Amino acid sequence: MAAQRCSRAGSVSAIPGCRAVIVSLIQRNGVKKVKNTSKTELLAPAGTLEKLKWACQYGADAVYFGLEFGSLRSYAGNFTLQEAAEGLKYLHERDKKGYVTLNIYPFSDEYGRLTEMAGQVDDMGADAIIVADLGVLTALKRMGLRARLHVSTQANTTSWQTVLAYRELGAARVNLARELSLEQIREIQQNTAGSIETEVFVHGAVCFSYSGRCAISDYLAGARANRGQCKHPCRWKYFVVEEERPGQYMPVFEDERGLYLFNSKELALWEYVPLLCEAGVSSFKIEGRMKSVHYLASIVSFYRQVMDGRLFSKDEADTLLGRVPNRGYSTGFMKGGVGPDDYSTAKSLSEAESIFVGAVRQSTGAGSMVEVRNKIFASDVLETLSPDDRIGKLTMPSPLPNAEGLFANHGEILPIPESLPEYTILRRIKSL
Ligand code: SF4
Repeated sequence: MAAQRCSRAGSVSAIPGCRAVIVSLIQRNGVKKVKNTSKTELLAPAGTLEKLKWACQYGADAVYFGLEFGSLRSYAGNFTLQEAAEGLKYLHERDKKGYVTLNIYPFSDEYGRLTEMAGQVDDMGADAIIVADLGVLTALKRMGLRARLHVSTQANTTSWQTVLAYRELGAARVNLARELSLEQIREIQQNTAGSIETEVFVHGAVCFSYSGRCAISDYLAGARANRGQCKHPCRWKYFVVEEERPGQYMPVFEDERGLYLFNSKELALWEYVPLLCEAGVSSFKIEGRMKSVHYLASIVSFYRQVMDGRLFSKDEADTLLGRVPNRGYSTGFMKGGVGPDDYSTAKSLSEAESIFVGAVRQSTGAGSMVEVRNKIFASDVLETLSPDDRIGKLTMPSPLPNAEGLFANHGEILPIPESLPEYTILRRIKSL
């Protein structure tokens, strides 16, 4: 089943016109599933080679990842050059694309290392290199790489004039800033008239500042956000100290848990997908190179279905997106601006309605081998999510077929009698 899913991207790009999706949705009002006519790309993050495979299995058309130097995610795991080569091979064998992020703002003495790495991933067949810095873009353009050059969200592109300027400098695609509204994106699309590809983040965490343009982490934690080291102080809890009373920390109560002034909710633009598609956006990007395989499976599967024309009610979407840790969801600037509702000021915790407890590593006609990721108990009722988007329910045997019988611990391989596709997620729903 997973292998079938992995070959789907080829047919997505072969079918013309995402405008047809909109027409189809309107004409078949009330029909839950419509024909996939989208040629817009679903672009997923990968912090490791393992995550790249999960994103691919759950329906991403392309995956982006960073190397050990030059990417803005110092804590994401990141790929060695050997893993990058393996990842690109894995993607290309399944008719998918791989983009390498070199979107750091380098100091003058770092260009040599960056351009050398760009040459190496170009030789491996990277489909694109994602850059933010003007000097890097110019240097890579001069190298005449086979890989296309994509401009990162770190460049904060907010106008069609800048998009066209990047085109003149050799970029094939520009990520549009998260701070744009739907109307502003439409204006950019109209004025660039398909002469350059555009990419929009549709899901994931957002900065309270312009993406990445923030020095709080530098000041408070000595960790530079623009070197990929952000410690996320915008999620921390803050107090007020009156200058005559040093050491007396007065909480600014929102409720008894305090006030998280800068804690942005996460972006979830699934409702805007048809409109962005109609506007002519080329790629829908998901944030989260540091997120888990559970996040990847759940979010990539959800957006894959949305892009394939499945209609979700608000409640259905809230339920599915609530399965993975989040700080609440918002449509950000897409609706025209942000207000208090777009921040989660009462808490900073990222919470989920489910606990990821296992993943199917091998499937046979006689059952499946589950890699345990969190304690599984005998008789547990678990929800399953498979790469074919199917959601099911599963009752674990009692006793469990392992030495303990009562429970299985993280790291164990647990045989179960159900035959489930490889890469199936097992999770315990808190409300069950
Ligand atoms: S501290 Fe928050 S706003 Fe600043 S760069 Fe880090 S995540 Fe973004």
